[in-house]
Amino acid sequence: MTGWLMLVALACAGPVAVAATVTDDPAAEDSATPLPRSVVQATGEGSNPTYAFEYVYEAPAADDLQTIYRRVREADLLRRLPEVQAIDGMFELPRRLRFVTAECGEFGAFYHPDSTEVVLCYETLRTLYEHGQAHQQALGLGPDHPLRYVRANVRFIVLHETGHALVDLLDLPVTGRQEDAVDQLAAILMLRFAGLDESPEEVAENLELAANWLLSRSTGAYNLDAYADEHALGEQRYFNLQCLVYGTDPEGFAGMVEAGDLTAARAAGCPRETRRASRAWVRLLLPYLAPGYEAYAEEAEAYLERSGEDATASSR
Ligand SMILES: [Zn+2]
Repeated sequence: MTGWLMLVALACAGPVAVAATVTDDPAAEDSATPLPRSVVQATGEGSNPTYAFEYVYEAPAADDLQTIYRRVREADLLRRLPEVQAIDGMFELPRRLRFVTAECGEFGAFYHPDSTEVVLCYETLRTLYEHGQAHQQALGLGPDHPLRYVRANVRFIVLHETGHALVDLLDLPVTGRQEDAVDQLAAILMLRFAGLDESPEEVAENLELAANWLLSRSTGAYNLDAYADEHALGEQRYFNLQCLVYGTDPEGFAGMVEAGDLTAARAAGCPRETRRASRAWVRLLLPYLAPGYEAYAEEAEAYLERSGEDATASSR
């Protein structure tokens, strides 16, 4: 479904059941095929706001997805993603948001506005693992690399879809491409809510792996479909992510420019880009903080105050 049709469907139908589906693969390979899965009855509707997320691991029918399903379920993968854990319960939502792993019959991850579900396909986990293995072999990395690759990318992908969910559920204003905006949110959440045991270098590496995946999905042979897509080109999403990482600490990440992961021309504006994107998302989400998050609200207000733009700074 195109962005325009999606907007129309959302605007006309509101949050009640409708055949609208944001088919979305953050790696710029969207498909308009609805998922072949049963409709899950929405809960938490009505006047009472809901806060906590729900998590469901659906049993796949395909034999070759059973092992992935068992591991994901046993690990309670979605609930334990550090950034999802950090924001679970943080926002007052008009409807409950459910995170689901499911057999989709295709590669992808989606946000479904009709059932307010973020769906991560088992097929995506399989493809990411295979890609992580290839990455490990190509670069001679350690045996834990494939799982690390999967985990870093799952974090980014699920947070990207969570961004779509928040835009829909909270009716957040987005000008420009929503795909870019939710890429920014995913990166900001990963930079802000790393696991307690993760160093800034590990956080940057997680985003580097996510950026690498976006880049690897690019065919390099662009045509009208690629230019017209809702998503920016893979190469552009790669540099956008690198810019957000670099922008958090230009001195610490100076090596990115030296290594050619970011051009010097783009890097110069990245601290400002990162600050603007972070401030925008904080400002958008602040009014929806759930009761009990008053301390966080104060911290966010202080951040907005502290990071206030220099009114004389120029844009181009
Ligand atoms: Zn998307």
